[in-house]
Amino acid sequence: MPDAIVIGAGPNGLVAANLLADAGWSVEVLEAEARPGGAVKSSEHVEPEFVHDEFSSFYPLAIASPVVRALELERYGLRWRHGPLVLAHPTEDETCTVLSRNLDETAASLDSFAAGDGDAWRTLFARYRRIEEPLLQALMTPFPPVRAGLRIAFRMWNELPELARFALLPVRRLADEHFRGVGAARLLAGNALHADFAPESTLGGFFGWFLSSLGQGVGYPFPEGGAGKLTESLVRRLEAKGGRVTCDARVHEIVVRNRRAVGVRSKAGDATARRAVLANVHAVALYLDLLARKHVPARVLDAIGKLELDPATLKVDWTLDGPIPWTAPDARRAPVIHVAESIDELTVTASELARRLVPSNPFLVLGQYSMGDPSRQPEGKETAWAYTHLPQGVEPGDLAERMEARVEALAPGFRALIRKRHAWTPELLERANENLLGGALNGGTAQLHQQLIFRPVPGLGRAETPVRGLYLCSSSAHPGGGVHGGPGAIAARTALRNPR
Ligand SMILES: Cc1cc2nc3c(=O)[nH]c(=O)nc-3n(C[C@H](O)[C@H](O)[C@H](O)COP(=O)(O)OP(=O)(O)OC[C@H]3O[C@@H](n4cnc5c(N)ncnc54)[C@H](O)[C@@H]3O)c2cc1C
Repeated sequence: MPDAIVIGAGPNGLVAANLLADAGWSVEVLEAEARPGGAVKSSEHVEPEFVHDEFSSFYPLAIASPVVRALELERYGLRWRHGPLVLAHPTEDETCTVLSRNLDETAASLDSFAAGDGDAWRTLFARYRRIEEPLLQALMTPFPPVRAGLRIAFRMWNELPELARFALLPVRRLADEHFRGVGAARLLAGNALHADFAPESTLGGFFGWFLSSLGQGVGYPFPEGGAGKLTESLVRRLEAKGGRVTCDARVHEIVVRNRRAVGVRSKAGDATARRAVLANVHAVALYLDLLARKHVPARVLDAIGKLELDPATLKVDWTLDGPIPWTAPDARRAPVIHVAESIDELTVTASELARRLVPSNPFLVLGQYSMGDPSRQPEGKETAWAYTHLPQGVEPGDLAERMEARVEALAPGFRALIRKRHAWTPELLERANENLLGGALNGGTAQLHQQLIFRPVPGLGRAETPVRGLYLCSSSAHPGGGVHGGPGAIAARTALRNPR
């Protein structure tokens, strides 16, 4: 009998399992799908010799995460790759904002839109550097992060009120207060919408600044050979510490005795756990599917009924006969491309999503690899993808064609290069990984009303659940979506503090 059973081999489940194994616990991970990794997988599903990330692709949060860094995954085969630039944001007027790990290059790009914006970015990035370490630590700690919070307060004592206000600003306001040109606004607002924040949403400025600063500091790296290599290194490390991952073992029930989780029933059979069960599943699945109703308090059932999903996703993977012929030369040097004409267009897009309309001009996050990882495609060819969001439960219609039209407008000749495509509709995403409920990426919206102590629902803002010995360790828990291991680490540490 293992000390702990982890349900789900996504990055959070695997991080949790590794930390438990490091503490000497025996760990069994049960995964529903045929392969481990959750939304961190890659394969040649579009065409042989072209390696596509099926879901997530760029891992600034992982490379910066103190939890993931401490796992030393490079010792288990992981090799990070970078492109010459981090991110490019081209528009049809043939301007292009760039984010580079070289601060002078980012600053020069912003200055080309308005003199002085480069120095404004240097100031904002310096602010990030001052609190980077405790800020990242705070994300890996249950809310409220007392110790990390005190360290931020100590470093920023005289500026605390201003910092608190800054953290709440919508990204449009932040851009207006700090910059004069459209380039910086585009960069920050693109990163904010990438994280699910409209230009007018509270906290959006923080996310735009945080993701841009991460890109400035550590880049948006990707594993050599595909996202699956990150998962492979997590599994290899776990196995080296004596843990085990069993695939094709969907858990359909968590067994509770005397209000304590004692094991699970799965496709692979029944299993008991000596000390803890960690659930790397969606909060909705945990409370409405895996636990019998009698074990879930009525207030939790009520709150789960109100959990807001983030928007659905449509992702299109392409194999191409050559690199995308972007008109803007800088866009040929960046693995990550954001496509949106302006911050105003992003406001329209967010408003369409809120009104349950398929966006007329979809905002695209696009990935391309030939300039950063030759192992992902035959020489001279390109592996690329783009995703966009649509409202929950709404049919995409011709959205995939309109996504391609947007790329074509910025890179004439793109369509002629397409060899094959695969479209991941929201239904296909959920079928491939049941945590991607409704085709949403983040296990629930990242808006303020579902963050921090409100995540996944008010009253349950920690890894603990109403069932003793059962911990939630998916992106439905604080600090939410992205591959950083935060929910996994928080749940593992909580379990270790409460052994039976
Ligand atoms: C298209 C897409 C693009 C993204 N891009 C990025 C990106 O570039 N960078 C980034 O940092 N993040 C990105 N994300 C978000 C990121 O991938 C997720 O936030 C992250 O994978 C969440 O990790 P997790 O471990 O909580 O869950 P998941 O990765 O979803 O893994 C959960 C696992 O649990 C398994 N499971 C669920 N229920 C059961 C059950 N009952 N029994 C057994 N197993 C079960 C699932 O099969 C799955 O393997 C993206 C997500 C998507 C979908």
